[in-house]
Amino acid sequence: MLEVAPGLHWVRMPIPIPGLDFINLWAIEDGAGWTLVDTGLRSRAIQDHWETIFANRFGGRPVTRVICTHFHPDHLGQAGWLCRRWNVPLWMTLGEWSFGRMLALDAVETVPEEVIGFYRQHGIGEDLLEKFRARGFNNFAKGVTEIPRAFRRICDGERIEIGGRAFRVIVARGHAPEHACLYGEDLGVLISGDQILPRITPHIGVYPGEPEANPLAQYLDSLPLFEGLPENTLVLPSHGDPFRGLHARLAQLAHHHDHRLLALLAACGEGVTARELLPVLFRRELDDRSIFMALGEALAHLHLLECSGKLTRTRGSDGMIRFRRSARSEAAA
Ligand SMILES: [Zn+2]
Repeated sequence: MLEVAPGLHWVRMPIPIPGLDFINLWAIEDGAGWTLVDTGLRSRAIQDHWETIFANRFGGRPVTRVICTHFHPDHLGQAGWLCRRWNVPLWMTLGEWSFGRMLALDAVETVPEEVIGFYRQHGIGEDLLEKFRARGFNNFAKGVTEIPRAFRRICDGERIEIGGRAFRVIVARGHAPEHACLYGEDLGVLISGDQILPRITPHIGVYPGEPEANPLAQYLDSLPLFEGLPENTLVLPSHGDPFRGLHARLAQLAHHHDHRLLALLAACGEGVTARELLPVLFRRELDDRSIFMALGEALAHLHLLECSGKLTRTRGSDGMIRFRRSARSEAAA
């Protein structure tokens, strides 16, 4: 635990996801207690780490509130355990709390056929679909302790007072349905969650629950929400180290996606499946699990191009969806 701004402490917890390794959580001194922002994955080891911090670093003061930026298990995983452990409320946006509650309750052993069909129509082969089936469909529930049935809703623009200092909620989209960032106006810090990361770009994907989604447009539309914050803002991301240079990073993130959109558009030509386009976006070999996230990411880019009229989709007699450049984008080229 490391104090990065007056009263605001950086807590690092391990996560067994290659390339991520750690998640950053935030413990904020809050009068007679502590407010936690994000909680870590569900595991006994992480609960033990928390207990060590409570015993040695919290000065005998209790946790009085848990805030989660979004529903992903590395953020929400221990929220249920923490809220019950301290008998305190969970603060989240409606979209994130309800999406997480829904997914946790949607745990079934058998992968629904419409989920299989979603991946099949985008070109995932039967051998991989068999392995996907074998993994079951309840992985989210395994990553979280029971999410509280009741929550305290936070809304975009709301000012939350923590330890006598104001934090403004900024709701951003694309990575998760209603991701809350917290701008600490008095401290000059931005708890950015997974929305703005320093080294990697946030995952933005299309999934079977919303097969027509256009999350990359939502993500790019959310970047300007942060442009009005001061240049010297200390950004506190969920992965990687705290950094300054917010505006340069916003420009890099937008540029990164522009570059990928152009590469995909150039590769679409006469009609290709999302699966066939993965080598355009990912040079490294994809394993049997990461291919599904990669496909979601490719679809996020393809849907943005489709919604802006640059690509059209057709469904072939083989049932496959293929994307091709539209007459409009051919003319522009
Ligand atoms: Zn996330």
